[in-house]
Amino acid sequence: MKHIDAGLLVAHALGDDAALCTEELHHLAVCGQCLQEVEELRHLAATGRLLSADDQLVQPSAVVWDRIRAGLHPPPAGSGRRRPAGGAGRPDRRLRASRFPRCHRS
Ligand SMILES: [Zn+2]
Repeated sequence: MKHIDAGLLVAHALGDDAALCTEELHHLAVCGQCLQEVEELRHLAATGRLLSADDQLVQPSAVVWDRIRAGLHPPPAGSGRRRPAGGAGRPDRRLRASRFPRCHRS
């Protein structure tokens, strides 16, 4: 089963009623995985709306960073998944192009 594109689920969760086509809406009605993702995104958006300018990010302690590093696994050598130097933070054009897949509307 092909699930709905993550970018489309985000748009739908944020209230864009036109984000999903009829096929995707039918899929969402029967797919627990996609529905759960939408519900989590809606919860995240609602939480974000509770933030104000007075809310400040705090610097995690060194212990937290150590735990994060310990949980990371480097990609296997030769997997081709490493980013080129200086490319960090740049969006991948292929990902952007696949964000709005064609829908087979009849
Ligand atoms: Zn799905």
